[in-house]
Amino acid sequence: MFGTLNERLEKVLNSIRGKAIISEADLDLTMREIRIALLEADVALSVVKDFIKNIKNNIIGKEVLKSIKPDQMIIKLVQDELINILGSNNEPLKIEKNGLTKILFCGLQGSGKTTSVAKLANYIKKESKKKILLVSADIYRPAAQEQLQILGKQVGVEFYEHGNLKTVECITDDSLLYAQKNLFDIILFDTAGRQVVDEQMMNELKLIFEKLKPQETILVADSLTGQDAANIATSFNEAVNITGSILTRIDGDGRGGAALSIKSITGAPIKFIGTGEKIEQLEAFFPERIANRILGMGDIVSLVEKAAENIDQKEMESLAKKMLKGKFDLEDFAKQLKQMGKMGGVSGIMSMLPGISKAQKLMAENKINDDVIKHQIAIIYSMTKKERSNPDLIKASRKIRIANGSGKKVQDVNRLLKQFLQSQKVMKKMKSMGKGNLSSDFMEKFKGKLPTNLN
Ligand code: GDP
Repeated sequence: MFGTLNERLEKVLNSIRGKAIISEADLDLTMREIRIALLEADVALSVVKDFIKNIKNNIIGKEVLKSIKPDQMIIKLVQDELINILGSNNEPLKIEKNGLTKILFCGLQGSGKTTSVAKLANYIKKESKKKILLVSADIYRPAAQEQLQILGKQVGVEFYEHGNLKTVECITDDSLLYAQKNLFDIILFDTAGRQVVDEQMMNELKLIFEKLKPQETILVADSLTGQDAANIATSFNEAVNITGSILTRIDGDGRGGAALSIKSITGAPIKFIGTGEKIEQLEAFFPERIANRILGMGDIVSLVEKAAENIDQKEMESLAKKMLKGKFDLEDFAKQLKQMGKMGGVSGIMSMLPGISKAQKLMAENKINDDVIKHQIAIIYSMTKKERSNPDLIKASRKIRIANGSGKKVQDVNRLLKQFLQSQKVMKKMKSMGKGNLSSDFMEKFKGKLPTNLN
């Protein structure tokens, strides 16, 4: 997501970076380029207009052009405005301390609504001890109910079975009674979607909304939707009062327009983003982090959080110790590769590092992708234990055996060994630096937080 936009904005901002004086003409050109970049990313026209207007007002108000570092000021204003249209702060869900919280979901069919209901159940369950009930009011597609039931089982939360109730009103009333009687804390209420917005669907949604009186009405929107995203968001917001949205498929290679438009269109914050098909792939939305990703400034905070969540602390500490002792073998290398996989693979990690577009280009040129990690692990596990702890043993005939065993070529085995030797060299260097105080300090800070081959 945001690949092209990131590339274009980085280019525009680089063209003013370092300039001691920025003329009116420079500024006009920069603003025009930013406008084009946003429109090409499918950001709604009204949002683009406001974006440019706000930056211009700020520039005039702050007399940026006469300031000591006008380039930095302008870059900062663009960053601030991006954060502003994305929603400024993370807004958590409104969940009642006592009593039942009702969360209504709406959105088009295929937007990722049902998956998001289950993802959110999983997210809340991890964060609290709340008792959650899943309800589906999709009376048109029995498969949709079955899907939610299966996902509910997977997450370990109850799914409300409405037997043969035929109308959404009955389902709403009955599930509410059931939840109250059985002391549930939260109802996550899924509704039917259509391919396109239609009147019947909206009327039905309004009925549910009025009966349920939800604390949160969440619009689930596919971030791959282009300019249509604005119309869809407007229609839903007119029918029910949207209090937040979940943007799905942020992992896709869409242009990002929906993400940048939806807050301004609905007036409600983006609360979560869907970053993949798996239940755990839902993240709280932080405007500043995403703005920084878009501007190629990276998102180190999310990266460290992800590392802390997914990485086995003990294993990382033992790897770090081995590294410092210079005793790092192929077995450890494989462990490190696996940790990277857990953090979303090369692409997941790269998307959070500064200078994304350049890094991604380099990766594409060098054919580095998530499959490479899998293949490298397969090669390492086709070696004997002895070979893994003593890679010097791996000569020609052993290489052929390992290549055959992992379904790869001898060149791939060579490449892996070379890469391993290179990491060993880096580690030896770190070890010698550790005799001073820099490296040990550094290791203390990052031990157990970042996979070492990222440092
Ligand atoms: P609904 O019709 O709106 O309920 O949509 P579903 O929840 O059935 O989702 C449609 C498809 O999108 C499914 O294959 C989901 O696995 C997939 N999906 C949902 N959210 C995401 C996401 O954040 N990323 C990706 N890559 N796929 C998603």
